[in-house]
Amino acid sequence: MRRVTVLGATGSIGQNTLELVARAPDRFEVVALTGGRNIAQLAHDARRLGAQVAVTAHDDLLGDLRDALAGSGVTAAAGATAIDEAADRPADWTMSAIVGAAGLAPGLRALEHGGTLALANKESLVTAGPLVMQTARRHGARILPVDSEHSAIYQALAGEDIDTVERVIITASGGPFRDWPLDRLRTATVAQASAHPNWAMGQRITIDSASMFNKALEIIETKEFFGVSPEIIEVLVHPESLVHALVGFNDGALMAHVGPPDMRHAIGYALNWPARHDLPVARLDLAQAGRLSFEAPDPGRFPALRLARETLARGGLAGAVFNAAKERALDGFLAGRIGFMQMAETVEDVLSRIYPDNGLIDAGFSLDTVARADHVARVTADAAMAARGAAAHS
Ligand code: NDP
Repeated sequence: MRRVTVLGATGSIGQNTLELVARAPDRFEVVALTGGRNIAQLAHDARRLGAQVAVTAHDDLLGDLRDALAGSGVTAAAGATAIDEAADRPADWTMSAIVGAAGLAPGLRALEHGGTLALANKESLVTAGPLVMQTARRHGARILPVDSEHSAIYQALAGEDIDTVERVIITASGGPFRDWPLDRLRTATVAQASAHPNWAMGQRITIDSASMFNKALEIIETKEFFGVSPEIIEVLVHPESLVHALVGFNDGALMAHVGPPDMRHAIGYALNWPARHDLPVARLDLAQAGRLSFEAPDPGRFPALRLARETLARGGLAGAVFNAAKERALDGFLAGRIGFMQMAETVEDVLSRIYPDNGLIDAGFSLDTVARADHVARVTADAAMAARGAAAHS
């Protein structure tokens, strides 16, 4: 029996994970499930899967969760500390699928008791890559990437020597705005940015895909997880979303991972690792797919990629600043405070305002320093967005 905890169980990745767990009750036993506002889903899954504990991130929803779990034998808890405690419970395998920087602390707690952390929360590696990787090493824990591109790279690297890798290519669908000219991008709405052509995902990552901030995060994630130099990481726009990543070796071989755009593959790979088990994903018919096309991303329309490389060049806690500024700019776009292209402008503003502050960026990695960089970046992003709003209205 593999003891399983799912952090972010009510989200898109969390629900796909539970679907796979529920298919094999003889192999998996659920320890803890955590969620946010979706109490009905959290309680339903905790009951049907016999979890020990269910935790909502929101203290004010504890009463609702208790009511929903009454008579089930599942313990209810609430708040960020309770999520950390859920992650502390002994489990063999933990899915880290909380969205945003909030996923870092519970992921670290899970790593501290060893076992395997399936990492969907890319923000953990972007904000605190060295801390996450060191924590895993120190406690003998294993991290398996769940982002489809990174799962693809991981699989292409199986049995290979990382020193023979010349290039790592991650693909991007190009999102709904792949062909949109700059002028039109400036007018893009939340509804338009929330409609991904190929992947069904949570709203925030879907909008990050439209702006290519998702790919920007993934460049940083690739560097932090695989330890490769940023110069060998390439991005290719691949509208069919069938090739998820390619790894180039020093003998010229290029190994591609090909499959349908379905997160259950990467989740299932991590869930069953090191074995492979049958998964309910469509089998690809390449003759029917017909054509695989690739193009270079346009840096003018998608400045997020350049910003990610500048962030990597800066090093230290710049990733935490980059991620927090991006999260706050996305909040601003969702709230109608700024336009689509102003998300990148806001992040660039924040980076340029914070970069001279070496004390903040070079403070070393701990949960406290990451939280401080995150906080300062959010406040700075708010100021940058307010200044832009004021400029727009003057
Ligand atoms: P969703 O928005 O669908 O789900 C997020 C989950 O986190 C939900 O369970 C939500 O609870 C919970 N949550 C939200 N805020 C908090 C908080 N402050 N504290 C604790 N829990 C919180 O996101 P996705 O499933 O799409 O993405 C999850 C992570 O996986 C992200 O880091 C994303 O980048 C990454 N990822 C996602 C992919 C996908 O296909 N969706 C692909 C690759 C990576 P509730 O909904 O109950 O409020």
